[in-house]
Amino acid sequence: MPAETIDGRALAAKVREEVAQEVEALGRVGLATVLVGADPASHVYINLKQKAAQAAGIDARDLKLPADTSEEELLATIGELNSDDDVDGLLVQLPLPDHLDEARVIDAIAPGKDIDGIHPLNAGRLYLGRPTLVPGTPLGIMRMLAEYDIETRGAHAVVIGRSAIVGKPMAHLLLQAHATVTICHSRTVDLQRHTLDADILVAAVGRLHLVGADMVKAGSTVVDVGMNRTDDGLFGDVDPGAAERAAYMTPVPGGVGPMTIAMVLQNTVTAARARRGLVSSAS
Ligand code: NAP
Repeated sequence: MPAETIDGRALAAKVREEVAQEVEALGRVGLATVLVGADPASHVYINLKQKAAQAAGIDARDLKLPADTSEEELLATIGELNSDDDVDGLLVQLPLPDHLDEARVIDAIAPGKDIDGIHPLNAGRLYLGRPTLVPGTPLGIMRMLAEYDIETRGAHAVVIGRSAIVGKPMAHLLLQAHATVTICHSRTVDLQRHTLDADILVAAVGRLHLVGADMVKAGSTVVDVGMNRTDDGLFGDVDPGAAERAAYMTPVPGGVGPMTIAMVLQNTVTAARARRGLVSSAS
């Protein structure tokens, strides 16, 4: 029997509805996105986030800065948004043009407004098991697992990829949910040996069909984060044939992607609530 599809679009619509209700209850929630330069993919992502935010009733400010913006100018803009009381969530779209120091820019974002969860303070809190603002992609995946009643406690979770925005936070969230976690990366020897033992497999690499159907454990849950654009369309890191072995699988498109955007909106509400003292930032 083929795997049950984890419907990211439907779940994202539900999360966005929840966000809209929270925004209404809070009265006003403000978001600012900052995009430097003209990277086409980044433009698409920012526009999707802006549209989704506006649809949820979030007051969304869309700052588009020229590609030759200096680091000082960008840091000054971030500083202004940090101290702007109308801004609850602040997102700087990555990657930045090469002349800008990404770490320095991320460090400048006020941790309480860091709705991408990439500031060292937020990353450190996750590492300590005291998460506050967590990157949207892994947060959305945890919500998917919860929604489909997929047991993480005691499960062997294998995460392929160790980026700061997906792989590492994913591994920490799974660890916090009591999975036994293996992290694989480009230097991992015999990837298949690890993936075949995965009850939950998360592929976050960006290599078309890196995970073959023969690398997936029967009855497992497969989460495909990969976004590989080809002339024939958008494809994931996992061969769709894996659905013949897995019990649950996320599609590409329509899986993790829509959830990422929805969770960025949820993070905006989380930040807004914390800024109003409605939740404690400590766990
Ligand atoms: P990234 O920063 O490029 O990280 C890729 C990771 O894959 C690295 O840790 C790398 O290992 C590892 N890797 C590369 N080749 C490998 C191999 N042959 N075997 C095992 N591991 C290998 O990418 P990212 O930002 O995490 O994104 C990963 C993918 O997810 C991309 O396709 C991206 O477009 C997609 N994505 C999707 C969403 C969404 O919303 N759907 C959100 C974010 C990202 P090393 O560390 O050793 O180099």
